[in-house]
Amino acid sequence: MTKQGVTYCSIAKLFCLCLLISHQATFSREIVVDFKGKSPSPQQQAVIFEWLNYGVDAVEKTLGPMAQSTVPISVSMTSAKEPVPWGQVVRGHIDEINMRIGEFNSIDDLTSDWTLYHEFSHLYHPLFAYQDFWLAEGLATYFQNVVMLQNGIYSKAEFLRRIQDGLERGKVATRSHMGQLDKVSVNMWRLRAYQRVYWTGAAFFVEAETLLKKAGAKYTVAQILAMYQVCCRSGESEGASKSAYKFVARLDSLSGTKVFLPLYKRYRYAKGFPNINNEQLALLIKIYSPREPEL
Ligand SMILES: [Zn+2]
Repeated sequence: MTKQGVTYCSIAKLFCLCLLISHQATFSREIVVDFKGKSPSPQQQAVIFEWLNYGVDAVEKTLGPMAQSTVPISVSMTSAKEPVPWGQVVRGHIDEINMRIGEFNSIDDLTSDWTLYHEFSHLYHPLFAYQDFWLAEGLATYFQNVVMLQNGIYSKAEFLRRIQDGLERGKVATRSHMGQLDKVSVNMWRLRAYQRVYWTGAAFFVEAETLLKKAGAKYTVAQILAMYQVCCRSGESEGASKSAYKFVARLDSLSGTKVFLPLYKRYRYAKGFPNINNEQLALLIKIYSPREPEL
């Protein structure tokens, strides 16, 4: 879904609408929305603002406050039948998100789509080199689903079905796109090897949760990523050949374990699709299900 570029488009101030979103008393997030092309009606604009507000809130509930205090979002209205046909992160001094919106009748049509959570999740990691795109897309694919579970958009059953179906698609795609994962990642667009790249990457994070638990770590991947935003995200090198290596090494030091780097070394050269069992999926439900209200 995401094509990571390295340019940054400044936003025409004339058409900017700013929305200050208060998430907690201790911080705030500024979303700067720029409508490109055909302008939505005032009613549609109100729904779109509410949706973007909700999306930031949902993702920050799972992954903690984003490192960048402002998130520019460019919105284009299209004639697509689906509510959110496309999204993209544009990397730059400040990372920006481009979203295309199609037909929608209510905010539920927008909040039930995964694209916005996927793109916001990308803001939690630096730009990686092409051979590590599996890690970037895996992180966003994994967390779009976790965010939707944790915020009650997906039921536990729906979450499980989505993860199982995705892993199955990844497995099937590995048969048609054979070879080392890093090499397939470099050629992902030419080969159209999206399912293998995205879902092997998602499996990496499923496996990391299991290994963290086995190692007696106090934190989930989401909690470690939240800590990473505070200490390290804004100072990381973007797009360098070692960006992903440094990223996973940092997650290890934050978690007090040696889980991420050995797993990264194993995955990046892997030719097959990893085996994820039901016990591992049950662990995800256990750690990320929304808490039942206390009676
Ligand atoms: Zn993506």
